[in-house]
Amino acid sequence: MPPFNFFDIVLFVISTPIGNLQDISARAISTLNACEYVLCEDTRHSRPLLDKFDIKKPLYSYHQHNEAYRSEKVIADLKDDLSIGLISDAGTPGISDPGHVLIEQCYAENIRVVPIPGACAVITALSASPLPTDRFQFIGFLPKQPGALSEALEEAIEYDGSTVCYESPQRLLKTLQALNDLSPDVPVAVCRELTKLHEEIIYKKATDQVEHFTRHPPKGEIVLIIGHYKIEKKFSFPPEKLIAWLLEEGLSKRDALQAAAKSLGVSRNLLYRLLMDKE
Ligand code: SAM
Repeated sequence: MPPFNFFDIVLFVISTPIGNLQDISARAISTLNACEYVLCEDTRHSRPLLDKFDIKKPLYSYHQHNEAYRSEKVIADLKDDLSIGLISDAGTPGISDPGHVLIEQCYAENIRVVPIPGACAVITALSASPLPTDRFQFIGFLPKQPGALSEALEEAIEYDGSTVCYESPQRLLKTLQALNDLSPDVPVAVCRELTKLHEEIIYKKATDQVEHFTRHPPKGEIVLIIGHYKIEKKFSFPPEKLIAWLLEEGLSKRDALQAAAKSLGVSRNLLYRLLMDKE
């Protein structure tokens, strides 16, 4: 594709800082200045950022509750030759933030989408953590429900690379405890308040993270990075024997696995993987 010029109709997806305002790029500022208007999650939140860089463009809200309706209007404006900028409260739009619906519609309408890259908490955290960066997955915010959380964490521990997720300070300790229950030695990086005054990256095994954050309740914004580790579990009763007994009782293989996992207090997936590893 040839390089765009400002006469093209373009939706610009513009990253903004995740804390330190000096992280805005010169290109982000010039692009914001060149747009007809800028879409943001919350105009009250983004106005001070635009003011700080003397960008006098109208701001309109674009968030999960109005994205379908707003996208229609924005597509009509783009077709009317107006270039439009999309930002989020912080970091890169579309990454656990609104943006996807509009971008998808732009492609359906042959409207060009141009990224103006910059800060993103996922990449910022990974870049300075000691966990491997050659292979990683990003899973957004972790589920809140305990069963789903434990399953997501199991998968993260077993993933052959680093798993990055967003976490809230209120839930961090519960998540670390769930990790500790599954695998106390799994390496974890808690990356807090990146690019801000109280920035810290704490790297320890799950069990030591629980101890640390019990003594120092966390505040601020958090990216959690979970390393790869082999889950080993000691059961009070041998799972193979339990499954054999359930099969004898007439349960199907699937139901026997499900019932055994429930009575041993692990997920069906984990029990299956542990049994496969033993073969
Ligand atoms: N789109 C953003 C990005 O590119 O990083 C992420 C938006 S998401 C709604 C907000 C979450 O990102 C926060 O709850 C936190 O988990 C993480 N986050 C954002 N800024 C952060 C920072 N400065 N330090 C650590 N985590 C941060």
